[in-house]
Amino acid sequence: MQIAIDGPASAGKSTIAKLIAKNLGFVYCDTGAMYRTVTLLAKNNQVDYGNVSGILQLMDTHEITFLNTDNGQRVLLDGQDVSDEIRSEVITNNVSQVSAIKEVREKLVDMQRDLANDTNIVMDGRDIGTTVLPDAEVKIFLIASVKVRAQRRYKENVERGINTPLSTLEDEIEARDYKDSHREISPLKKADDAIEVDTSDMTIEQVVQKVSEIVNSHK
Ligand code: C5P
Repeated sequence: MQIAIDGPASAGKSTIAKLIAKNLGFVYCDTGAMYRTVTLLAKNNQVDYGNVSGILQLMDTHEITFLNTDNGQRVLLDGQDVSDEIRSEVITNNVSQVSAIKEVREKLVDMQRDLANDTNIVMDGRDIGTTVLPDAEVKIFLIASVKVRAQRRYKENVERGINTPLSTLEDEIEARDYKDSHREISPLKKADDAIEVDTSDMTIEQVVQKVSEIVNSHK
């Protein structure tokens, strides 16, 4: 069974996808982490985020690996765990430029389809239901208001010792959503057959409950 969870930035996709995968004993794949890791690769090698051939060359000469551990999905770049580093603000604010590159998407989508092949999987991202796994049995489109998403990100940041003002976070989230929904290749878009869940006024437990009900109705 394939479960696709898409939606805009900070809508709670990975939190929910991780819990659903755990409850069902499915593999979990966070595709955003892949685009983030390629962005980190460009940054570490001082390659401009818009330099297509430079970035493709880096992808060909470096190894990105995903591990499913008890601690969730970990991302390794050339054997080194970069799971935390890819969440930094500089990566968050530049990832949309890298993810808009057609060839980068082609390579990562191939990896994502390989991961989903012959496995029960919950995959989250922006284009899973529309492009990566168009035949997924369950497609969820998670949304929440910008205000709520900025507040959630603010809370997460404070726990990590980052103190970006709430209004800046709102602007950043809106800017990323705009870029992700207006790019030419596989923009962020609800698949026609996806079920939209607005999590603005819901707790994590309520969203998990709602998504579990949708999954159960497809079993
Ligand atoms: O989900 P997350 O916020 O970690 O994703 C980071 C970025 O990766 C998104 O803003 C988007 O630019 C890109 N992305 C994408 N397609 C996906 C997953 C993420 O373009 N399937």
